[in-house]
Amino acid sequence: MKSDQMKIPQATAKRLPLYYRFLENLHASGKQRVSSTELSEAVKVDSATIRRDFSYFGALGKKGYGYNVSYLLSFFRKTLDQDEVTKVMLVGVGNLGTAFLHYNFLKNNNTQIEMAFDVDKNKIGTDIGGVKIYDLNRFEEIQSDDIKVAILTVPAQVAQKIADRLVDAGIKGILNFTPARLTVPDYVRVHHIDLAVELQALVYFLKHYPLD
Ligand code: ATP
Repeated sequence: MKSDQMKIPQATAKRLPLYYRFLENLHASGKQRVSSTELSEAVKVDSATIRRDFSYFGALGKKGYGYNVSYLLSFFRKTLDQDEVTKVMLVGVGNLGTAFLHYNFLKNNNTQIEMAFDVDKNKIGTDIGGVKIYDLNRFEEIQSDDIKVAILTVPAQVAQKIADRLVDAGIKGILNFTPARLTVPDYVRVHHIDLAVELQALVYFLKHYPLD
């Protein structure tokens, strides 16, 4: 996201890709306007939050009309830098890493895994989902300066050591799928997604806070 949009609260910024994806589908189906209630049902965010989020970027829906889909879409495209493909790298081509290499991120947002790293001799030099796998031991010489984001899918016990190397090489954002809590300098952003914890939390909520 561009620096002039930094005053948007982080919680709002995190919801933008969600809004963007839904609006893109609406636009593709030829819909020209959408109400905050419709949006709310589709993206599962309450409509008051949506109205507040949208007010941060001056998109004030009209009563009885809703929001103009094309306007919102072009705004989101600019805000999320969707006109430009953001290249990312992946470290750790195990089961999860391999799934990501096969996943078409371009389908829903403009990011693309450009290169992958591993230490497994059987994986180095191969190609998965069109992405070449390189030797992590040669990371510093191979990595490209125009990639600032890394997806980390290595075993937890090596995550910190690898994160340190990523940071030293200029990586500014890490999407951490390992259970390890990473320590990084404050100019580096880490988003942590622990799938096992998320699943466990869902099961817990279903059990203790059933919706019906
Ligand atoms: P797999 O079945 O392929 O081992 P997994 O997801 O169960 O997948 P993990 O042990 O989590 O396996 O390892 C994920 C990937 O990280 C593997 O491809 C492994 O080769 C790689 N890996 C292990 N140690 C390192 C390391 N020090 N640096 C980089 N990659 C590593």
